Amino acid sequence: MLIRFWGTRGSLPSPLTWKDLEAKLLSLLLRAGGRRLPSPEDARAFLEGLPFYERGTFGGNTPCVEVLFGEERLILDAGTGIRPLGRSLMDGPAGKGQATLHILLSHTHWDHIMGFPFFEPAYVPGNRIVVYGGHEDLEARLKYQQDPAHFPISLEDMSADFSFVRLEVGRTYRIAGFSVEVIKQFHPGASYGYRVQRKGRVVVYSTDSEYERTDPDYLTKYIHFFRKADVLIFDAQYSPSETVEKKNWGHSSALVGVDLALYAQVKRLVLFHHAPEADDERIQSHLDEALSYVERKGGGGLEIMAAYDGMVLEV
Ligand SMILES: [Zn+2]
Ligand SMILES: [Zn+2]
Repeated sequence: MLIRFWGTRGSLPSPLTWKDLEAKLLSLLLRAGGRRLPSPEDARAFLEGLPFYERGTFGGNTPCVEVLFGEERLILDAGTGIRPLGRSLMDGPAGKGQATLHILLSHTHWDHIMGFPFFEPAYVPGNRIVVYGGHEDLEARLKYQQDPAHFPISLEDMSADFSFVRLEVGRTYRIAGFSVEVIKQFHPGASYGYRVQRKGRVVVYSTDSEYERTDPDYLTKYIHFFRKADVLIFDAQYSPSETVEKKNWGHSSALVGVDLALYAQVKRLVLFHHAPEADDERIQSHLDEALSYVERKGGGGLEIMAAYDGMVLEV
C-alpha cells in the first residue's frame, strides 16, 4: 500500500505567510555563511543537509489522505487537500468520466469537507463518487455545505453520479478491494476512525479524537482497533497542557499517541491534524517531545513522524 498525504492541517487551512518564508530564507542564508554553492547540485546537497522543518514546511491544507494499492484507492476525508488530489486524478480515468472514487469521511466538521466543492472529478459526467461515513445524514450535510448561501454550485449540479453509504461500527466492509473497519470516537458531534487492511498490511486513520481517560479499561476499544497497525495516523493537534486546558474540544496530543501506539504495538505513528497556529518549529517540537518520550519509555521499535502535505509512505 502507498499512503499519500494531501492535507495534514487541522481546523483551518494555514498557508505559509511571506514573513514565515522570509524568516526561513534568512536563516538558510545565515546557515550557508559564505559557503560557495556554484552548481544546483551543490545547493541541493546543502539544502538536503538541513532539517526538514527549516528547509521545507509541513503545509497548510486540511485533512485528505489517499490510500493506494495499484490503481485502487480510498480517499480519507475531503479537506482542502482533496483539491490537488482531484487535479492529479484528472490525468487518469477520472478525467474521462470513467472512475469510481471512494471517499470515507471521519465526520463533517468544516475542515474535513471544505475541499469537496473543489474536487474536479465530481464535475465530470460518468464518474461515480461514493461517500462513506458513520453519520446517518451525510448527503444532507454535504448538500447543506453547497447551499446557495455558502457556495454557488449545488451538489445536484455537480455532474458525477453520487451515492452515500452509512458504515456501522462492528462490521467489516470491502471497499475498492480494501477491508475497512470503523470505530466511533469521542469528538463534538462524534467522529469515526478507519482501520484499512490489504494483503496483511494495516493503516489506521484516527483523527479528531479525544481520550477522556487514560485507564486501560477506557482505552481497550482503541488499543484493539489500533492493534499491530503498520501505520497509525493520529490526531496530535494539542500540546500536553492543551489536552487539559481544552478538555472536551475533541483533540489529542503526540504523547497520548505514543502511549496508545505502544499499548497497541503499532509500528509507525504519524502525527496528524496539526494546529492552524502551529508553525513548522512548533510541529517539530511536538515530534521531538514524542521522540524523547518514547525513548524514556523504552519503546525502541516505534517509529514516529509528523505528517506533511506531500508526504508519501510505503506500507
Ligand atoms: Zn478536524
Ligand atoms: Zn472535528
